[in-house]
Amino acid sequence: MRSQFPHRLYTQGLFCRRCQKVTEHGLYAREAYSTFGGMEPHVPLLCCCDSCGTMFVAFSNEFVFCDHEYVNQDYTKIYGYNRIKAGNWVYFKGAPKPGLIKSVFQTPDKVILVVTYDGGPYQNIEMPRVSLEHEESPEGYRLLPVQSAQTLLGDYIYHAIRDQFGMAVGMVNDGEKDKLVVLLNDKTLVFITLPPLAQNLPNDKLCAAVQSKLSQVFPEHCDKISIEVGQGIVYLNGLVKNLSIQRAIVKCINAIPKVRGCVDFTRVLVSPFTTDEQIEKDVLVQLELPGTRLFDYNVNVQDGKVQIEAHCFENERPKDLENRLSEIPGVRDLICLVTEVSDPMNVDVCQKVETELSSSAFLRGANIRVSCNNRKYLLEGHVQSLLQKELALATLLKNVKTTSIENRLRIV
Ligand SMILES: [Zn+2]
Repeated sequence: MRSQFPHRLYTQGLFCRRCQKVTEHGLYAREAYSTFGGMEPHVPLLCCCDSCGTMFVAFSNEFVFCDHEYVNQDYTKIYGYNRIKAGNWVYFKGAPKPGLIKSVFQTPDKVILVVTYDGGPYQNIEMPRVSLEHEESPEGYRLLPVQSAQTLLGDYIYHAIRDQFGMAVGMVNDGEKDKLVVLLNDKTLVFITLPPLAQNLPNDKLCAAVQSKLSQVFPEHCDKISIEVGQGIVYLNGLVKNLSIQRAIVKCINAIPKVRGCVDFTRVLVSPFTTDEQIEKDVLVQLELPGTRLFDYNVNVQDGKVQIEAHCFENERPKDLENRLSEIPGVRDLICLVTEVSDPMNVDVCQKVETELSSSAFLRGANIRVSCNNRKYLLEGHVQSLLQKELALATLLKNVKTTSIENRLRIV
């Protein structure tokens, strides 16, 4: 399994069930993702104990470094440990539950917090002023045990019953129940049984649910795919027709209730006659379609892995491009970076030349895009002969007062 996850992204202290303690774990991914700025959700990560090598799979959206947009952000500020503002959830040690802050007033020696509990009437709570030099977790804490189901690995926690701070370090199953593992600041490990709704489905039940969904949505493809299920995780093996189907299957499985995530070991069926050159040609055909409106593009294909960088005008990003590209036979992976150019240069000139080229009788059969990016004019698309290629260049030269031109026209 380790060889399938070659990229070490991150090191994190997690509970190892073999070492029976928190150890440094390497978090490995199948691609070289960056955790900087928040990771996308549903990415499988192999967590590997640096001491004994024991491994388990978890998903990016189960970790605190996931892009905040995709994970629960209900953190509670603890009075005395956090700076508190209107709109925050706040917990006073010893209180039965957290409240929502409406406003905060300060006098020289006191703080008055206006709080509502469960949307009830506002109450003024007077507290002594505390000076806070350093906040351990400025966004607050997960309040345990009530928030055990929302807690992410690496979250700062406050255990209200034990009056202890700590960190979430794992999820384990003790043979019966799924539990959240928390390391308290006094070094105690606490195992909190997750509420019934957050328990994983038994493997056979989840497997049946996934199988029935796949046979319903992908009736022609599901017989070539084998499914294994463990701890809410779906492992896929087998062959798929193209990258588009492969991505659609993973997306479908991730949307099934009670699925934690999907580890996809399927392979795209590639004919032995498919070459990278052929794939590149097929990609260029898609990029050059009149409706696609891309310019200054660059395609790189290696072992069926396609990487594209391209530009488009603002709000002209072609919506179905990735789909069309991932249907090309032989494409095993696709990274498509399209940059929107907000203040394109010399649009009128480019448009005029493009119109002139498209109406020229000598350029019949050609499809030429004229653009100007980074102070350079570009001719992109295809022509049928070297003569047409040179004619297109001459037409552009006649219209612009620069020789900063790159003629990328392909002869097909
Ligand atoms: Zn270990």
